[in-house]
Amino acid sequence: MNQQEPAETLSVEQARAAISRNINPIVATELSSLRAALGRVLAEDIISPINVPAADNSAMDGYALAGKVLDSDAPCRLNIVGGAFAGRPFIGSVDAGTCIAITTGALLPAGCDTVVPQELALDATATYVNLRPADIGLLASLGMADVPVMRRLRVAFFSTGDELRSIGETLEPGCVYDSNRYTLQAMLTRLGCEAVDLGVVRDDPEALEATLRRACVEADAVVTSGGVSVGAADYTRQIMAQLGAVDFWKIAMRPGRPMAFGRIASEGHSAYLFGLPGNPVAVMVSFYMIARDALLYLSGAKVAPLPLLSVPTRTTIRKKPGRTEFQRGFLVPDEQGRAAVSLTGPQGSGILRSMSEANCMVVLPHDCGDVEAGQAVDVMLFDGLI
Ligand code: AMP
Ligand code: MG
Repeated sequence: MNQQEPAETLSVEQARAAISRNINPIVATELSSLRAALGRVLAEDIISPINVPAADNSAMDGYALAGKVLDSDAPCRLNIVGGAFAGRPFIGSVDAGTCIAITTGALLPAGCDTVVPQELALDATATYVNLRPADIGLLASLGMADVPVMRRLRVAFFSTGDELRSIGETLEPGCVYDSNRYTLQAMLTRLGCEAVDLGVVRDDPEALEATLRRACVEADAVVTSGGVSVGAADYTRQIMAQLGAVDFWKIAMRPGRPMAFGRIASEGHSAYLFGLPGNPVAVMVSFYMIARDALLYLSGAKVAPLPLLSVPTRTTIRKKPGRTEFQRGFLVPDEQGRAAVSLTGPQGSGILRSMSEANCMVVLPHDCGDVEAGQAVDVMLFDGLI
């Protein structure tokens, strides 16, 4: 990384690739009680200590039989020699050419092999999954009270700007409430990180240096908002260069053009640094489109690409080729019940309402231009993303 070169312009894909080349996940694990494990990253394969079900049983009501009798295509007639019910097994074996009536959950008697396709042991090969409600229930069905999980990634965050006021303070002319710190805390928490709030940092080199040093000691990564745009970045750049290796990028995206990424160190501790722009929509879009996957990877989680849905747009969308745009949309069914998307009003990067009213992002790729009403566009649903 080079601090002296002028900012280079990268595509969204180049920025993401540059980050992923330079990060390594945490390795520390801990034991979590099952009730507290929702959303955590599983640290190792779970081998079931018991067979579930304990013996072959039927997944449906029907007839249990030896399957090889069905090998020929000819119709076959079998005598029903008994019945098996859940909690009341059939005693004895079922001879070839006969069958028994069986209900869901009943044990499969000797000689029968066709009704139950259940595995005898859980094969939890999907290591590093984020635990979801179904996974928590599945582990409970195995009688497990605790699960090994990765420790949470500690991510420090702060806002920068002399104009920022915290909730409860008086808003003088020219001041705004600091919203990014709240957005950042919520986004980091949703991602499963331990969010460490370092407050509002004034536009002052010494304050910035002290806060970044503190972040190195207290966290694995630090996410900042504001102060990375060209005009603002001069002393930010110097301080970050003093503390480590940080690149300042112009990313061909909208919103969210300026960004810094690198690694800083202080007193033998280091932290990855994600310097996000200050505008409230830009900070969210850069967080989700550039930093999210990296933070998940650092957390030890498996990062799967977020799915894009192709849906028609209800309105014309203005778009300049040469940058990736993330416009905020609202996906609703049309008259036939099929999904179509419309934009949520003015799309300026300071208009957080455009994000709050949206349920998806319309992703307009680098080379695409204006899109006419009725044409298909890619959308990324907020549900599952945020
Ligand atoms: P900057 O990237 O520092 O130049 O900030 C760009 C714009 O975003 C300015 O209008 C700032 O007032 C605004 N902004 C920066 N940080 C925050 C924040 N934490 N909360 C709300 N607005 C902010
Ligand atoms: Mg600022």
